[in-house]
Amino acid sequence: MATKTTHETHDLARAINTFANNPLDRASDKRTDASWIAEKRKDPTSLIVPMWDLKPLILPEINEGDGPDAGWLRPADIDEAATTGLEIFLGVKNGKAFFAAEIDKTAKPEAEGPLKGLGEFTELRGAAAILPSGDAAILAQAKAMIDWHARHGFCAVCGEPTQIAEAGYKRACPSCNAEHFPRTDPVVIMLATNGDKALLGRGPGWPDKMYSALAGFVEPGETIEEAVAREVFEETAVRVSDVTYHTTQPWPFPSSLMIGCHAVASSTEITIDGNELSDAQWFDKADLAEAVEQAAKGGRLPGPKSAALWVPPPMAIAHQLVKAWVES
Ligand SMILES: [Zn+2]
Repeated sequence: MATKTTHETHDLARAINTFANNPLDRASDKRTDASWIAEKRKDPTSLIVPMWDLKPLILPEINEGDGPDAGWLRPADIDEAATTGLEIFLGVKNGKAFFAAEIDKTAKPEAEGPLKGLGEFTELRGAAAILPSGDAAILAQAKAMIDWHARHGFCAVCGEPTQIAEAGYKRACPSCNAEHFPRTDPVVIMLATNGDKALLGRGPGWPDKMYSALAGFVEPGETIEEAVAREVFEETAVRVSDVTYHTTQPWPFPSSLMIGCHAVASSTEITIDGNELSDAQWFDKADLAEAVEQAAKGGRLPGPKSAALWVPPPMAIAHQLVKAWVES
């Protein structure tokens, strides 16, 4: 894994963000080839991860220290399980096809049936921190896709039920023939700086002393740069310009793409929008460098008696934005 990404370098193989570095060839040309998909779905070399209640199956570690693995099962292992019929073709790697299959939410797959005792269905946000990065990225794809289907069962044009198509990458309306495709919602997340200080905020109910980069959804008809300036101004009344792109992070909770940016503040007086933030402050570079170092070490979240500033852990792009700035 890379330790540093500059504004000039965006090498796919070195992406620093959790949920980046998906190793699969998505082979989108195969999605419309129903016979190829059906053949691969039965192929004993194919790998299928079951998802239950939007949680992927995670297998316990085999050798101590290796860490857990994503629950990649063979077709024969899952065919007797209580699947809903919602299956997504994720892509291919080394000649093997990868799928995700939804398990009926009313079933108890950890306790009974063919998946009993294999592992645990685990929230992806927590699992991502301990899984191999490639698996975390594939599961982000799987989770976002299954979630999209769960939320888009009806046609947005005519209101009739829609049907899964193209190996999971489309929903088609048999009533009005409208086609619906998976969505990704762009979110800007930005670190505004002014000399040796950076602007961070915290939301209501966050752990004590925890601060992060400001963020918000890009609106229709808006550029990334405009969204950065608007969100910073709405949340803190600080004006920014000179927006530069850092990296992006898939964030499947439920379907965002976090677009990490830096921006230069041209004003410093803070007036917080109390709806979104409970506080925002300018922090010194030295304090943020220490907070980044502490967050990278992991461990417990700050408690009410903690005196030190905390920033999010490395799996959050906010951490990477702060880290890149303090190291610049
Ligand atoms: Zn329709």
